[in-house]
This record gives sequence, structure tokens and C-alpha cells, in this order.
Amino acid sequence: MMPGVTIWRCTGCNAALFPERLLCPHCHGARFENERVHEATVEEISVIRHMLGQENWQPRRIANVRVTDDLCMTVGLLDESGPGARIVLFQEGEAPYGRAK
Ligand SMILES: [Zn+2]
Repeated sequence: MMPGVTIWRCTGCNAALFPERLLCPHCHGARFENERVHEATVEEISVIRHMLGQENWQPRRIANVRVTDDLCMTVGLLDESGPGARIVLFQEGEAPYGRAK
């Protein structure tokens, strides 16, 4: 896994976006700059206990995490971090993950 997660920042209004969009939902600008973020705060945890069509599915924890003042994202949690925890972010392909610092 790569450390950090790539987000996009609108050059028009400075909004942080993830995942990438064609147009900024705030100002409809189309120019973005990549930014790498490395930490976030857990806000909410969900557990996915079943996945249709997957026989050997292990329960997975996903977290809604706050990355910046104006950006939250959903990440796969790799440990037992709970709400309020500071986590470090990783990325595998497009998918973001996190675990305790
Ligand atoms: Zn914008």
C-alpha cells in the first residue's frame, strides 16, 4: 500500500474533492491540483457483515473520516480504531484505507 491518499483541490474555489470529479460541485470549475493527505479523524464506523455473492466474506469495518475542514471520505479500517481516533491514510489502487497512528 502507498502511504497517503490523493485528493483534488479545485483551483477556482479551493474546495477539496475525493473522489475525482469532472467538475467542481461548488463552482463548476474544471481545473484541479493533486494533493496528498496523510491523516484523518474517524467520525463514524460501519461494519459490513455480508456481501451478496461472497461466501468467504470476513466482516469489514469501514469508517467515515474527516480529512480536511471541507472533506470527508469513506476508508477501509485496518484496525479497531473508533470515533475520534486519529488515523494514518494509505491507498491501494483507488481505494483508501486507514489505521491508528
Ligand atoms: Zn470549485
